Amino acid sequence: MAENHILIVEDEPNTAEMLASYFEAQGYKVTTVSWGKDALAFTKKTLPDLVVLDIRLPDIDGYEVCRQLRSHRRTSQVPIIFLTERRERIDRLAGLELGAVDYVTKPFDIQELRLRVRNVLRRAELPPVTHPVTGLPSARLVEEQLNRLMSVKARWTLIAVAIKGLERFADVYGFVARDDVLRAVALMIQRIADEEAGDKKPFVGQLDEVGFFLVVSHEYAKRVREQLDTRLREAMVFFYPRTDWEAGQDQAGEPLPRLSIQIGTIMGPVPYQDLKSLRQAIKDSLASTV
Ligand code: CA
Repeated sequence: MAENHILIVEDEPNTAEMLASYFEAQGYKVTTVSWGKDALAFTKKTLPDLVVLDIRLPDIDGYEVCRQLRSHRRTSQVPIIFLTERRERIDRLAGLELGAVDYVTKPFDIQELRLRVRNVLRRAELPPVTHPVTGLPSARLVEEQLNRLMSVKARWTLIAVAIKGLERFADVYGFVARDDVLRAVALMIQRIADEEAGDKKPFVGQLDEVGFFLVVSHEYAKRVREQLDTRLREAMVFFYPRTDWEAGQDQAGEPLPRLSIQIGTIMGPVPYQDLKSLRQAIKDSLASTV
């Protein structure tokens, strides 16, 4: 495996130099910059595996650097470890809300930082268990759930929901708008699951980049499906800029990139022997939706 590349953003020359030589000695590739804008310029060309980011920088502060990294698709997932001052308690929280993965407090113990760097890089190599945009269970958690489902003898219903047209929508309105759609749909599905599926909270997961699913008790399935159908269809209008929606076209005069919702149902217990067949069946159930 290629050596991990760490970008250190720190304006205090002594600290920056100490960190650089320490992590180089540990076998990492290290780049140091001292200004926030330099960090952004650098990540436009090169995507590091990890950013060690000081909060207090001479130009734009660490929060702003983080915010900008998060707002670009290419850098939105790069792990960040903040360097904060001990007295800046609020810094910690605000930093973590920006999706930073960790922080260490200055004056820091280099061993502690080394462990955090190692842990963050290890975590980044594992397949994520929640979807980075919606926060719903994904990947391994979804596989576990589907596998478990195949062995359940009692009746259950899996309802799959897919958003169609999201790619073209993103071409026109950008990926930030696209992510907003994903988040909003995920949230609505969770709400409906909470409100309509009885006492036992159903599993809600992220099936793929544009698809979700819930597993509900048989008796609630019809109602949940109806609610999904109505409420998601009604919500579509809110994803477009109002003027575009009213005009029926985008700023360039093109027809609106049409978003639509597909809903499919699978009722169990199912005869599928493996995950692949179940996934295919879920896909087929969506394709048959008008
Ligand atoms: Ca500083």
